[in-house]
Amino acid sequence: MENVVAKKQFGQNFLKDDGVLHKIIQSMPKNNNKIVEIGPGLGDLTKYLVDIKSVEAFEVDTDLCQYLNKTFEKEINTKRFTLNCGDVLEAWKSELVDYEYDMVANLPYYIATNIILKALADTNCKNIMVMVQLEVAQKFAALVGEKVFSSLGVITQSVGEASIVVKVPPESFDPAPKVDSAVLFIQKSSNRDDKGFEEFLKLSFTQPRKTFAKNLSSEYDKSLVLEILENLELKPTIRPHEISTPLYQQIYKKLQK
Ligand code: SAM
Repeated sequence: MENVVAKKQFGQNFLKDDGVLHKIIQSMPKNNNKIVEIGPGLGDLTKYLVDIKSVEAFEVDTDLCQYLNKTFEKEINTKRFTLNCGDVLEAWKSELVDYEYDMVANLPYYIATNIILKALADTNCKNIMVMVQLEVAQKFAALVGEKVFSSLGVITQSVGEASIVVKVPPESFDPAPKVDSAVLFIQKSSNRDDKGFEEFLKLSFTQPRKTFAKNLSSEYDKSLVLEILENLELKPTIRPHEISTPLYQQIYKKLQK
């Protein structure tokens, strides 16, 4: 597959920077979990992963699946590598895998946020180490008070802790994407199990620069929201990005009563 033409519709930007590949491998959590890789592509990351652990991968592109089946024939025969050819989001409509895993991947950017949210909700997923667009990594790793703190930051902090491992320039990929990238690490310590909380967060950040109370007023009685804010000693004009994750959890609980 020397002259592979990257397919734009599948978000194919192959990682060709050995320094970054090694950084990902070195930063992986040390544990006995298996690895799930989404979009192994030409196997540039996979070849290092299978050296360390058992890997199960999901690849949508049938041409790449053929290539991977040949390249990793030995690892497939020894069950060190399992390849599922198809759309990971289809596979995820039910349980993705039935064991505890860490996700390590250079994600297709057009569905990266969706995949991370699914991994955060998946109780089998214990850690997430993924290459994504820098802007997306910054949103997941944002802290309260930062302009980019959003529902993604709150959801992440509800189940664990996020950090940016390394920023990666476009030249590290072939073809080079138009945007900067970053490796995002999320260490999960608990499980997210409340869909309602996520809906509440979406509503809270409907218009990020408007007040929190205004955003909630389309579904909740505004005077009740203001009363809750006052009880928590928060100002009535507080903006969504100024409210911490524990406070979101408290407000949500109070609104359920
Ligand atoms: N891991 C390789 C690397 O680091 O060079 C390739 C990464 S490339 C950014 C994204 C990969 O995800 C491509 O191989 C693409 O075909 C695959 N992909 C895109 N959409 C997918 C989907 N819905 N399900 C599974 N794989 C997908």
